[in-house]
Amino acid sequence: MIITYSFSLIMRTRLKTYCYSYMSRTKSSDLLKFTAKGIYCAQAGIYIDPWRPVDKALITHGHADHSRWGHKSYLATASAAPVIKYRLGDINMQTIDYGKSLSINGVEFSFHPAGHIIGSAQIRVAYKGEVWVASGDYKLEDDGISEAFEPIKCNTFITESTFGLPIYDWRPQQDIFNDINQWWRANAAEGKVSFITGYSLGKAQRILNSLDSSIGNIYTHGAVENINEVIRNQGVSLPDTIRVTKDIPPKDYISNLVLAPPGALNSAWMKKFKPISIGIASGWMALRGARRRRAAERGFVLSDHVDWKDLNTVIKETEAERVIVTHGYTKIYTQYLLEQGLDAQAAQTEFTGESIDGESSVTIENSNSSKPEV
Ligand SMILES: [Zn+2]
Ligand SMILES: [Zn+2]
Repeated sequence: MIITYSFSLIMRTRLKTYCYSYMSRTKSSDLLKFTAKGIYCAQAGIYIDPWRPVDKALITHGHADHSRWGHKSYLATASAAPVIKYRLGDINMQTIDYGKSLSINGVEFSFHPAGHIIGSAQIRVAYKGEVWVASGDYKLEDDGISEAFEPIKCNTFITESTFGLPIYDWRPQQDIFNDINQWWRANAAEGKVSFITGYSLGKAQRILNSLDSSIGNIYTHGAVENINEVIRNQGVSLPDTIRVTKDIPPKDYISNLVLAPPGALNSAWMKKFKPISIGIASGWMALRGARRRRAAERGFVLSDHVDWKDLNTVIKETEAERVIVTHGYTKIYTQYLLEQGLDAQAAQTEFTGESIDGESSVTIENSNSSKPEV
């Protein structure tokens, strides 16, 4: 992205200095360490969101870059488990309720709401009076499906920085939902199909939940509808949807809305929807040109991650004296925190963040073949 590149140029010299100091400040006594396999707690022998196969994995949430196939055992919240199992197939999964703690070799682990997607958690790790929190991905606005974010006080806070630049400044979600419904209403009046994309786990359900069903029918792409089914089976009520199938005559879509994952954009699958108006719901729509490059008529700035102001609010609320930044604008944001007088460092991980064209660049191995995500 252009903006990342130009910031990198400006920061290059300063970053060299700070990268060196980060390396020298990594302590062997750290409760959580960044290893080749993932975030590791040596005292308990467990990993958090590991990116290589391990024996014991604690999982913050079901997105593919945090919840990967191949571990011997998984532990996640009870509300995150169904979608993880759906995506990864036959895995050895145990669950824990929010706020309950589990002790492993003297280390106490507990899961707390992260507000990112259904079941998403920050994992609190406490040992001999020292507290670390690995937050996974998170957002502050309560979307009514994810369990609402709770700040957790800690000594060291591990954070993402997917949208860790001041240019990311979200408007209240209700404003965005009003914009989406207005766009749909106007398209319906003109006899157009409203085609909107949002990633299939989290964003799609959040959009769905806010749609005004009195305007027309809501049709869904299979990848979105499969996740809807999993979430409905958990007892979450979502507005009625109709799965797009070959049997539906194309004229039926006119004036109605189709909800699809970003990967469906410009696919052969979407040719049947015409005349069409394309909308994209993503935090990346805040970037100039992102919508135009994808030939969309509308970009709705809606993200399941914190923006700049909320990111800084959370860091303050944790009262952490040390912050480790894992993915997103890692280096720039670390530099900012250092300038604020915090002990901050960037850590190398294999979390990808939500990419502009999908929820993650990680492919889901062993995804449940009986329900292909097409
Ligand atoms: Zn995520
Ligand atoms: Zn992430």
